[in-house]
Amino acid sequence: MMKPVVLVTRRFDEEALSKLRGNCQVFYHDEDRPLSRERLLEEVREVQGLICTVSERIDGEILGRAGRLQVISTVSVGFDHIDLQEATRCGVMVTYTPDVLTETTADLTWALLLATARRVVEGDRKVRERGSLDGTIMEFLGCDVHGRTLGIVGMGRIGRAVARRAMGFSMKVLYFSRRRLSLEEERSMGLQWTDWIPLLESSDFLTLHVPLTPETHHLISGPELARMKGEAILINTSRGPVVDEEALCQALLRGQISGAGLDVYEREPEVHEGLKRLPQVVLTPHIGSATRRTRRRMTQRAVENCLQALAGQRPVDLLNPEVLERDREAPLR
Ligand code: NAP
Repeated sequence: MMKPVVLVTRRFDEEALSKLRGNCQVFYHDEDRPLSRERLLEEVREVQGLICTVSERIDGEILGRAGRLQVISTVSVGFDHIDLQEATRCGVMVTYTPDVLTETTADLTWALLLATARRVVEGDRKVRERGSLDGTIMEFLGCDVHGRTLGIVGMGRIGRAVARRAMGFSMKVLYFSRRRLSLEEERSMGLQWTDWIPLLESSDFLTLHVPLTPETHHLISGPELARMKGEAILINTSRGPVVDEEALCQALLRGQISGAGLDVYEREPEVHEGLKRLPQVVLTPHIGSATRRTRRRMTQRAVENCLQALAGQRPVDLLNPEVLERDREAPLR
């Protein structure tokens, strides 16, 4: 029997990919950068499986070319780069990699929060520039983290993991999400449900953990920033377009809030020029899930999902089960 063909758009963990090689013919781009749009459009014609990540936009144009495609398996938990509705219409399964990156992304969220509050990156730069310590005591005054108020937006997997860590800092934890947790869950996790505006007004640190959807696009913009405390710090490890970057830059320049820690950007791969110039902003290059162990586990999970789909089974992390319910004899393209 002919082995199915799978396109792997970029370099992933080699060990995790080995299982794929045993079962499929693999078109592999062994380069640590996104596959160009032209190559993707060309190569997707031939394949039954596609393993990709957030830097490849899988839209109607790609799906229109992908006549043989059965499964898109993204090595990420966010799937806003895939037109899920169109994939479903075309009868293509879409899978993602939840859970395995939750704790790692929560760690990075805290790394950004602490680095911004305590001016770690500014301090590091100064030590290198000056070459020694010059004994000042009124420079690099940051703000305390312990005992302050943390506001979490989006109480899903990562939001909860961030909240768990706040206990160690004796923080008051407020949250806002699409659905309120049960009182029992709130009590056991030490969380307090708060409406949107009071959350903005009360948080010393506001951290975002919602997916990017039409509803969350520019969830934080000028009016929301104007509600926040002057000493507040905004942390975003969700998706860039959840924050209006120009409005954030203006709010920081005016001192409406005091700092920001960002891992994701509105127009990736571009980073807002104004934000790059501000010392009170800490910027990381979209590395929320970037540890060796977690990236390996994400790739393993994506490979499993892809193989399950190609074997005619229901993948564990299937986002559009409707595809399986439809008559597979009559695909819509
Ligand atoms: P999740 O478990 O689905 O949590 C998302 C939470 O946001 C859910 O509680 C959801 O509510 C809530 N939500 C959705 N829309 C909302 C809205 N309009 N208003 C308020 N709350 C809303 O997802 P996760 O695993 O925690 O991941 C969250 C996001 O983090 C991902 O979508 C991804 O974009 C991002 N991420 C980034 C990195 C990185 O490298 N920086 C790494 C991992 C993840 P419901 O429960 O009602 O759905």
